Amino acid sequence: MNLRHANHTIYVGAGSNMANRLDNLRKAIDLLNQLPRTSVKKASAVYHSEPLGFPAQGWFYNAVFELRSELNPEAFLLLCKRIECLMGRPADHMKWGPRIIDLDILLYDNSTCSQKHLTLPHPELSNRKFVLLPLLDLANPIHPLLGKTMQELLETCPDTSAIERTEHTLLTGS
Ligand code: ADP
Ligand code: MG
Repeated sequence: MNLRHANHTIYVGAGSNMANRLDNLRKAIDLLNQLPRTSVKKASAVYHSEPLGFPAQGWFYNAVFELRSELNPEAFLLLCKRIECLMGRPADHMKWGPRIIDLDILLYDNSTCSQKHLTLPHPELSNRKFVLLPLLDLANPIHPLLGKTMQELLETCPDTSAIERTEHTLLTGS
């Protein structure tokens, strides 16, 4: 393990339903790895999931990444938004609509934060199978507000949309 960026553990949820979805997830990993004092340690399997909210769009590829970073949550969020923008996601994109890449901070250590521009843990974490399932490939942490493990949250998750695990891999040797 690279001990240089060992101080914070961040789980990032990534999704893409436009253009080459697999390439988009891989590109996002590359760009996250290039952030200062940050490294991507693990990536989940890739999941193929039905769009929620606005169904007249393509299915998503979703994955979760585990990172170590010295960046604080605010700085990290800003840089995630910059990566989304760099990859071609317009700043005024439609909420729930199709996207090249979406990067959400699911968990940042055990931190909690309830501002509109940054809510930690991510407010939809316990409601979405497409983040709980890939996160469980990596770890089963306790939700710092709900006091339940991700496995327990999956068991009571209200999401009934379709999701399947694919054979695609994003990182080797993780
Ligand atoms: P979506 O809900 O589809 O992910 P966006 O990616 O556009 O939509 O996010 C909407 C807003 O959510 C962003 O402007 C961001 O500031 C805010 N936000 C709040 N908490 C988080 C978080 N934990 N991770 C990422 N974005 C967050
Ligand atoms: Mg987002």
